[in-house]
Amino acid sequence: MTLSDRINNITEPQTIGMARKARELKAQGVDVISLSLGEPDFDTPDPIKQAAKKAIDENFSHYTPVSGYLELKQAVAKKFKRDNNLDYSPEQIVVSTGAKQSIANAMLCIINPGDEVLVPAPYWVTYIELVKIAGGKPVVIQTTVENNFKAAAQQIEKAITPKTKAIIFSSPCNPTGSVYTKNELKAIADVIAPNKNMYIISDEIYEHINFVGKHESIAQFPEMKERTIVVNGASKSFAMTGWRLGYIGASKQIAEACDKMQGQFTSATCSIGQKALEYAANMDASAVYPMRDAFKKRRDLVYNLLKEIPNIKINYPDGAFYFFPDIAYYIGKGGIKNSTNLCMYLLDKGHVGLVPGDAFGNDNHIRISYAASEDKLIEAMKRIKTALAELK
Ligand code: PLP
Repeated sequence: MTLSDRINNITEPQTIGMARKARELKAQGVDVISLSLGEPDFDTPDPIKQAAKKAIDENFSHYTPVSGYLELKQAVAKKFKRDNNLDYSPEQIVVSTGAKQSIANAMLCIINPGDEVLVPAPYWVTYIELVKIAGGKPVVIQTTVENNFKAAAQQIEKAITPKTKAIIFSSPCNPTGSVYTKNELKAIADVIAPNKNMYIISDEIYEHINFVGKHESIAQFPEMKERTIVVNGASKSFAMTGWRLGYIGASKQIAEACDKMQGQFTSATCSIGQKALEYAANMDASAVYPMRDAFKKRRDLVYNLLKEIPNIKINYPDGAFYFFPDIAYYIGKGGIKNSTNLCMYLLDKGHVGLVPGDAFGNDNHIRISYAASEDKLIEAMKRIKTALAELK
């Protein structure tokens, strides 16, 4: 019996693989500190939970329109205006089962076999696999810790060919925490503008976990608005990963296409979750500022601890909740051949679960998530430092 080339062509997310191994060690009684998963260690704000409970009691238990209830889409459109100064009508909003599905919908709707999609690295693992599932060809643009992991407009310009159909990136970024400034986004917009057939998938899921001030979207530039698919959702900003709520703001043409695609895959996302998202979208984001501020404090804590570890290079992340240290120095020592070996070593020796940079397009790095308590972070950094010191 054979499986399709499609499934054989894609790789399991290493984030999940590493978490599974950490769970196995924990089950054996080992005190593992897992810094491998990309989710806030906070609870969903109470009023959002109340809204969902009310929805159950009021029997919002039926199929909904594929792209979401009208009131929800109105709330999301209002959120785009309030937080991003972007004008969308409810017909330009599609709510999905997580931002992951929003991105999958978008890719399946715009990519034809052979189309190229630019993916600045380090990238979120799923982008590459989704491009492949859609039949496209990922074209990776490398960046370095020295330039804060940001792709320069000139690099993007150089990578564009007649086959380029889209570019996808996140800001704030998973796995680097980098945040593109308005000027940097404008420079990127300027090189994309002449390529009329090119879309931008702008992943803004970490919007509210931003330590430098106002969130900037590339869709704000008039020449980009029609061509940008803004992806956002509740997972990170409202600590709602398990609720599976993502959405896009896009042109009517794209929104209609994504609605049609989703209609054949999952239909709408859960009706109760939609009511929770409606509440969250109407809510002033200041309700989640305490979470953002806690992440900012941890960012500084971990930054200072990482700086004490010899021979690794780090940037100072402006958002999200990750560090992406350059660990090239340790490759070749103690039989370590790559970032996966190093993560395995740190799990076995230090009992800290991390993710190999290879999964994000750079094998000289590892990803550290600081979505954990300060005590755990201090202990984990101590263990990493000790384990690395033993590598000769
Ligand atoms: N985009 C980025 C950059 C992410 O890091 C994640 C989750 O890790 C997602 C999208 C997916 O979010 P969701 O939980 O809404 O599917």
